[in-house]
Amino acid sequence: MNIIIFGPPGAGKGTQAKNLVEKLNSFQVSTGDMLREEIKKDTEIGKKIINSMNEGKFVEDEIVNNLLQKIIFDSNKKNKLIFDGYPRTINQAKNLESLLNKSNQKIDYIFFLNVNKDSIIKRIERRKVLEKRSDDDANTILKRYDTYMSITKPVLDYYSKNHNFHEIDGSMEINDIYQKIEEILKV
Ligand code: AMP
Repeated sequence: MNIIIFGPPGAGKGTQAKNLVEKLNSFQVSTGDMLREEIKKDTEIGKKIINSMNEGKFVEDEIVNNLLQKIIFDSNKKNKLIFDGYPRTINQAKNLESLLNKSNQKIDYIFFLNVNKDSIIKRIERRKVLEKRSDDDANTILKRYDTYMSITKPVLDYYSKNHNFHEIDGSMEINDIYQKIEEILKV
């Protein structure tokens, strides 16, 4: 089963993805984590993306799409993918569809964690203290939210017509959100 967890920054995508990974014995596909790892290891990609990431801008589709390709064609991970933070652009959504088609896979469920701007800002400020992410400061949060609204929201509109699309109130407690997801998946 392949699942997309969709939502604005700070909606709790990573937390729910981790819950699902444990429950379904799957793999979390967090492009954010993958990109942070490139920066940590100071790779060529890392050097290229550090500024845009710190400013809350998107990394180029080409870089993100390439990172994704390896995972989709990894036979150990086939049909065990939990996407968290990908796709974020229409181009990425189409790329994902095409890679999944080529590898005989599909998206089984899309969960949209819907959270309003004020709650997001509060949550990310809390996360900054816990995770010390350099892109979690107040200005960058607003920038990331605006980017979400202008570039990622169209992806939501694209997916919302899908029969496997489920909107969940992301302002609920973590456990309640997870319970809803489990009910829908019947696991
Ligand atoms: P995240 O950990 O998912 O909140 O991502 C943190 C940052 O990584 C984002 O603000 C972007 O700069 C970059 N990033 C993560 N995923 C993507 C993606 N799918 N496309 C473009 N940039 C991304």
